Amino acid sequence: MKFTVLTLFPEFIENSMHTSICKRAIENGYLELETCNFREYTENKNGRVDDYPYGGGAGMLIQAQPVYDAYMAVTGGRKVRTIYLTPQGEVFNQAKAHELAEEEELVFLCGHYEGIDERVLEEIVTDNISIGDYVLTGGEIASVVVMDAISRLIPGVLGNHDSADTESFENGLLEYPQYTRPEIWRDKKVPEVLLSGHHANIEKWRQEQSLLRTKERRPDLLDGQ
Ligand code: SAM
Repeated sequence: MKFTVLTLFPEFIENSMHTSICKRAIENGYLELETCNFREYTENKNGRVDDYPYGGGAGMLIQAQPVYDAYMAVTGGRKVRTIYLTPQGEVFNQAKAHELAEEEELVFLCGHYEGIDERVLEEIVTDNISIGDYVLTGGEIASVVVMDAISRLIPGVLGNHDSADTESFENGLLEYPQYTRPEIWRDKKVPEVLLSGHHANIEKWRQEQSLLRTKERRPDLLDGQ
């Protein structure tokens, strides 16, 4: 999978993605990361990429030209699935992460200030994605969230690929509670069934806990099940 990120802050993307599991995935060749600072493509002699919005209103808007030229430079004009991170997009979830993980290449466009001139969005964007109903200062954090969630679904990225299958949302439920050594910590005992070695009982307990936890914390996930 290749990720290309169009951003005014490539160092943020590089630092975030060169950490922990994503870093290892890049080093081992499961992921390729390219960042492109679209400021380098501006025709403005002072290096500006933003201007006042027509019609007035607060803040500045990123102009179409530097974004489009950067996009053409990184894609060479090829049609690549291109995601604009925006609070106005479809809210990201695990199903969307699975769908995007099927692609071989993705371009992410990070806005800033008040956003980006609509005309270039119409030209290059295939998917509008939000990471939640709140407004961030820029799309960088959102792009890292989306790339991280996709990365762990790529076979080989997690040490044990099975571990992604049992996680929250994979079967429409939250994951069951988990415990590790020691057996007793601050008078709290690990549930007896997990020490029993009885696989069928452990599986039954986990399913029950998963359902219980989902009912308590995210009953909305059970709607329509
Ligand atoms: N004026 C825009 C609006 O009201 O919809 C908000 C612009 S926001 C201050 C600046 C940039 O942050 C956006 O262009 C987008 O790339 C990013 N952003 C903000 N909130 C986001 C969210 N919830 N999900 C994804 N990206 C977001």
